[in-house]
Amino acid sequence: MHHNFDQETKGWVDLIHPREPSKRLTTDLDARWVIIGAGFTGLSCARRLAELNPNEKIILLEAREIGQNASGRNSGYAVAHSHFSGGYQKSQLEHYQRIDRINQTGLNSLKSIIENSQIECDYKDSGIYHMAADKNSSEECEQFEDYLQKREIEHTNLSKDQINMELGTNWYLKGVKVKNGALIQPAKLVFGLADSLPSNVELYENSPVLQIDQGRVNTIKTPSSILKAENIIMACNYEPIANGKLKQRVVGVTLSGSITRVLNQEEVELLGTEPSWGVLSLHSGGATVRLTEDKRISIRNTAEYSNHHLLDDKQLKNRQEIHRQAFNNRFPKLSHVDFEHLYSGVEGVTANKTNIFKKLSNNLYYAGCYNGSGITKGTAFGLAMADYACGNDEGLVRDCLSIEEAKWLPPKPILDLGAWYVTKQRFKGVGKDR
Ligand SMILES: Cc1cc2nc3c(=O)[nH]c(=O)nc-3n(C[C@H](O)[C@H](O)[C@H](O)COP(=O)(O)OP(=O)(O)OC[C@H]3O[C@@H](n4cnc5c(N)ncnc54)[C@H](O)[C@@H]3O)c2cc1C
Repeated sequence: MHHNFDQETKGWVDLIHPREPSKRLTTDLDARWVIIGAGFTGLSCARRLAELNPNEKIILLEAREIGQNASGRNSGYAVAHSHFSGGYQKSQLEHYQRIDRINQTGLNSLKSIIENSQIECDYKDSGIYHMAADKNSSEECEQFEDYLQKREIEHTNLSKDQINMELGTNWYLKGVKVKNGALIQPAKLVFGLADSLPSNVELYENSPVLQIDQGRVNTIKTPSSILKAENIIMACNYEPIANGKLKQRVVGVTLSGSITRVLNQEEVELLGTEPSWGVLSLHSGGATVRLTEDKRISIRNTAEYSNHHLLDDKQLKNRQEIHRQAFNNRFPKLSHVDFEHLYSGVEGVTANKTNIFKKLSNNLYYAGCYNGSGITKGTAFGLAMADYACGNDEGLVRDCLSIEEAKWLPPKPILDLGAWYVTKQRFKGVGKDR
C-alpha cells in the first residue's frame, strides 16, 4: 500500500469473507484505455468500455483494494429519486427529471448485473424511508411529500404511529416511503462487480497512479510500472490527479458509522413488521439507520472535514458515542445491544452539491463527486463516461454533460477552513434528527 492512500479493513468488508485482491501492476504496458479508480464509477465504466470495445483490453488501476473506498463503505441506499431540499420548484423540473433519469439508469444497470452475474449482495427492492424527527425536518417532510405528489412519484406518507408499527421506533414524528429504490450490502456488491468484470478488463489492485504526463499518448507512472495510455478516465472521486484546476473543485468529507451485532429473535420482535429497511433523514445532517437483511442495525450520523482522510481509532471511538446516543434514542429497548463494527469513509463533495463529468483534454476524462449519493449516480456516470470517451454524446451522456458546473474552491489553507465550515453547516438545526 502506498502511504498517500490510507486503507484499513473496517466496516462492511469486515462482515463478509475476505476477497483475494487482484495482482498489482509490475510490468510496463501500452493500452488504448486506462481507468483510474475501481469504485462504482470505475467498475461501471470498465464494464461498458469492454462492451463497446470487445477486442481491446481495458486497464483498471486501483490504488487500494476493492471495497476500501466510498463504494465499499457507504450505507447502501441505491436511490432512484433524489431528495431536493426546499420543496418543489417548477423552474427546476427539467433538472429533477434529469437527475432521476441518471439515478434510474444506474439502478437498472446494477440490478441487471446483479441478476445476470448472480451477485449475492442482499439486494432488496424494498423502497426507502425518508424520516423527520424534529421540527425543521417535519417541514421538509411536508415539502417532500408535495414534491413527490407533483412529480407523480409513487410513495406513502407515514404518521408517527405507522412508523412505530413498521420499524419499531417512536422517535420519528413523520415520514414518507418512496417505493422505487433498493438497499444493498455495499462491500458485497463491489466485490461482486469486480469479480464479474468482462474478460477484456484487466484489474490491478494496490497499484496507485502517482503521476500522469499528458500528451498525444499519456504516460502513467505507478510505483513499479510505466504505462502508455491513449485515453485515461479518472474515476478517483475526491483524489483527482494531474489537474490542479480539478483539485480546486472537490473536497473529501469523512463520515462515520457503527453496526451492531446480529440481533436475536427476541430483540427482533421488539422492532416492527418490516423484516429489513433503510431510513434516510430529511435533514441533511441527520442519521441514516438500517435494519440489514442479517438483522443488524447500522447507523451513520457524523460528517466532518478531516483533510480527505479516514478517522483514526481514537477519533472513531469518540464518534461512536454520537452513534450510540442516536441508537439509544431510537431503540431504547435495545440499548444493551453492542456495536460490533465501527468505520469511516471519505466521499467527494462540491461547494454547490453538483457532480463532475468532464473532458479535461482530448484524451483525459473525469467522472465523480456525488455528495453522498453515488451508488446509482456513480454507476450511471461510469456508463456515460465510457460512451462519451468513445464519441457518443446523446441520451444519458447529454444528461451528465448538462449537470451544473462545480464551483471553484480557493487553495489551501483557505480551502481547509472553508471545507470545515461548510461541513459543519450541514448540521445546522439537526436537533433530534442526528
Ligand atoms: C459513509 C458513507 C456513506 C454513504 N452512503 C451512501 C448511500 O447510502 N447511498 C449512496 O448512493 N451513496 C452513499 N455514499 C456515497 C457513495 O459511496 C459514493 O458516492 C460512491 O461510492 C463513489 O463512487 P466512486 O467510484 O466515484 O468513488 P470511490 O468509491 O471513492 O472510488 C474511487 C477509487 O479511486 C481510487 N483512486 C484514487 N486515486 C487513485 C490513484 N491515484 N490511483 C489509482 N486509484 C486511485 C480510490 O482508491 C478509490 O478506490 C456514502 C459515502 C460514504 C463515505
